[in-house]
Amino acid sequence: MLNIQTIREDFPVLSQKVYNKPLIYFDNGATSQKPEIVIHKLRELYAEQNSSIHRGVHYLSSKMTERYEAARETVREFIHAGKVEEIVFTAGTTASINLVAFSFGEAFIHPGDEILVTELEHHSNIVPWQLLAERKGASLKVLPINEKGELKLEMLDELLTEKVKILAITQVSNAIGTINPVKEIIQKAHDKDIPVLLDGAQGVQHGELDVQELECDFYAFSGHKVFGPNGTGVLYGKEKWLESMPPCQGGGDMIANVSFEKTTWADLPLKFEAGTSNYPAAIALAEALNYVTSVGRDNIVTYEKELLGYLSKSLQMIEGLKIYGTSQDKISTISFLINGIHHQDTGMILDKLGIAVRVGNHCAQPLMKSLGIEGTVRASLCFYNTKEEIDQLCNGLEKVKQMFG
Ligand code: PLP
Repeated sequence: MLNIQTIREDFPVLSQKVYNKPLIYFDNGATSQKPEIVIHKLRELYAEQNSSIHRGVHYLSSKMTERYEAARETVREFIHAGKVEEIVFTAGTTASINLVAFSFGEAFIHPGDEILVTELEHHSNIVPWQLLAERKGASLKVLPINEKGELKLEMLDELLTEKVKILAITQVSNAIGTINPVKEIIQKAHDKDIPVLLDGAQGVQHGELDVQELECDFYAFSGHKVFGPNGTGVLYGKEKWLESMPPCQGGGDMIANVSFEKTTWADLPLKFEAGTSNYPAAIALAEALNYVTSVGRDNIVTYEKELLGYLSKSLQMIEGLKIYGTSQDKISTISFLINGIHHQDTGMILDKLGIAVRVGNHCAQPLMKSLGIEGTVRASLCFYNTKEEIDQLCNGLEKVKQMFG
C-alpha cells in the first residue's frame, strides 16, 4: 500500500497553487514531475563534482566517470538488460529512435524493403522511419487499430512479409493509453526473423520491465517521463545489432583512433555517444529510477489501476462525454471529448481551475485521423495523483458543460 500523501511531499511542484487553486497535475504523459532527490542530485553534481567524463586524469573527472558508468548499470538493472554495453545514453526517446532509424537503416535497409509501424504511434515513431524510407527507397506499412483502439493483431501475419526488415511499435499509446501485447507481437515478428523496436516512452514508468524476457531488439525511453531530468534518455539494443550498426554521429568519445586516412570506433556503448554527454542528467536519471524502485513497481501498477478504474467510472457518469480508447489493457491515461465542446476550450477552463490536462492531437495525427477527430482532452495520471483530484476534474468538466453546453 502506498502512502500517497508522503509520496506527494517528495515532489515540490505538487504543493503549489495556480490561479490560487491547488495544482492538479494530470499531464504526466507529456512529462512527469521530479522528486526532490533528483533535483537535489543535479544541484549537488554541478555544485560539487562537475567535470567532463572519460579520459580525465584528475579526481573530479574520474569520480564523475565512475558515477556516469554506475548510472548506466542502474539503467541496465532497471530494465533487466544483459549487459551495460547494450545501454546507450541519449537525449530521449526521439533521439533513441532516430539513432536506430539511421544506423540500423544504413546497415540493413535497402530499396524495396518495408518498415512496419502501427496506427497508434507517436510522431517520433513514424517520422524517423519515413525519413529512412525516403533515403533508402523503402516503404512504410501500417498495422491498423480496431474501434477500441487496440491493434488488429489478426492482420499482423499478413503484414509481416519477407520484405519487412524492422517492426517499430509503441509499448503503450501516449494518446489513448492502450497497452499493446508486445510480447506476443515480438514473438510473431521473430518467428519471421524480423527485429522489433519498442517505443517505451509511456511504458517504462508504469510497471516492471524486462527487455530480456520481452526479447525486444531495441527499447527506447525518455528520462523526463520517468521522473528524471529532461534531455536524457536511453536506447537499449541487443549487442548483436549495436555491433553491426555504424555510428550515426561522429565526434569525441565515440572513436578508438582517428587519422585522416581512417578512423575506428570506440567499443559499445560509447560508439553511439558522440560528444560530451549530459552526464549530470544521466546520473540524476539513475536517481529517478532508484526512486521508482523504492516506491515499488508492483505498488505503482496496483495503485494506478485503481486510479484508472475510478477515473473511468467517474468520467462515464458525465453525460455527453465520450472516451476514446477503450482497450481492455490500459495505463492510467484517458482521452475524451464532451459533446460539441472543442478540446481547447475544455483545457482552458480546466486550467483556470488549476487542473493541468493536455489537449490536441498528442503528436499522433494519424491516430486522430483514424478516430475521426482532430484531438482530445487527455488526463494522464500517475502514482502521486489521487481520487480527490479526479473528483475535482469531474466537477471542472461539469462547469465546462455549463459554460459551453
Ligand atoms: N513516443 C511516445 C509514445 C511518447 O509519448 C513520446 C512523448 O510524448 C515520445 C515518443 C517522444 O518522447 P521525447 O519527446 O521525450 O523524445
